[in-house]
Amino acid sequence: MPNQFDGEAVGQWDGEDSGAVRLRWKNGVIVSRDVLPANAAPLDWHILPPLFDPQVNGFAGIDFQQDDLAPEQLLLAVLELRRHACSKILLTLITDEWPRLMKRLAHIKKLRDAHPELRDGIAGWHIEGPFLSEKPGYCGAHAPELMVNPTEAHISQLREITGDDAVMLTIAPERPGAIAAIERAVESGVTISVGHTDASSEILSAAVRAGARGFTHLGNGCPRTLDRQDNILWRALNQEGLIYGLIPDAIHVTPDLFRLVHHAAAGFAHECLHDSYFVDSQPFYYTTDAMSAAGAPPGTYRIGRLNLEVGADKVVRLPGQNLFAGSALTPLEGYQRACRMLPKRPLWQNLSTMPCVLMGLPLPLQIGSSADFCRVARGPDGLVHSGEIYVRGHPTALEVEGVSAKR
Ligand SMILES: [Zn+2]
Repeated sequence: MPNQFDGEAVGQWDGEDSGAVRLRWKNGVIVSRDVLPANAAPLDWHILPPLFDPQVNGFAGIDFQQDDLAPEQLLLAVLELRRHACSKILLTLITDEWPRLMKRLAHIKKLRDAHPELRDGIAGWHIEGPFLSEKPGYCGAHAPELMVNPTEAHISQLREITGDDAVMLTIAPERPGAIAAIERAVESGVTISVGHTDASSEILSAAVRAGARGFTHLGNGCPRTLDRQDNILWRALNQEGLIYGLIPDAIHVTPDLFRLVHHAAAGFAHECLHDSYFVDSQPFYYTTDAMSAAGAPPGTYRIGRLNLEVGADKVVRLPGQNLFAGSALTPLEGYQRACRMLPKRPLWQNLSTMPCVLMGLPLPLQIGSSADFCRVARGPDGLVHSGEIYVRGHPTALEVEGVSAKR
């Protein structure tokens, strides 16, 4: 007998089959995915995987960098993220004293494991620091005095707390002990992303050989002024085997640089992408690097110890400085801005399936997987005009910036 967890949806399909698709789900689980002729659904309506953001430090006024977060606060952030097309995140904790950071992680993990909506919405953890470069510019908004060298004991403790969860660890591979720590982390199933780093090409290569797969927010976590011949951007882009993270707000990475890095890495054939079901795969994923001001009005917000100002331009700044500290971007607005910088390209995957590929998580929209997807009206330029996100078959209307403001 049908219930509120059963249903079906029809839309154009961006996956390996062209044409339209009819998804059916029962009890919140996809039971069939039938290919139909394209004219079986309006041509501008698409069925897409939900967005998955691998770096979210806070959302909707909730700062995740707190010792005593309550489950309602996490739930508010997760449900608000849905309205911005995002069903899953890696909850991100940034540099702090290691014991305090691990205590905070253990607390949040306990809250998440105890609540079904939080288990759905928090796919795992991204630990960004304290194993980063302490050099000015490279440390970004992280406290340089808290940086330490990674050890195998740190990695073991991180794994003990997180169990089998997906974990990304951002690390500067030039720190003493980092290559051994990367090997140990990869062995234990942790995804290593290099970032906030000024590593040489040789050290970057050693990190990739040790199993590093990602590069955290390329173009950020480095000084505003770099040597034109030899800098971390060129070294990173010249390093085959990495999937590059970008913050697509047109501010952290300017539109010219955004387009340039896509062109520069276009020729790379990445082993890890061959299995992914998109033909036009490029080694990129996008993230908002959102902090608590994302999905909330302009004002003053906290990320851990820092007080930050967020203007109407959604830029997050340390007061009186020109240093960015996370973004106030929502995942859907991130996709929209990426589309404006590189129109008519299949960019949705970079904020949905590519993070899954990077993290080794199952691809969405498979038979037997949770009925989590977006059904959106998109223009020929790729921009989303309206739509819904379904999580376990339950729809939530999307908040599309610019469109909802006119209502
Ligand atoms: Zn960062």
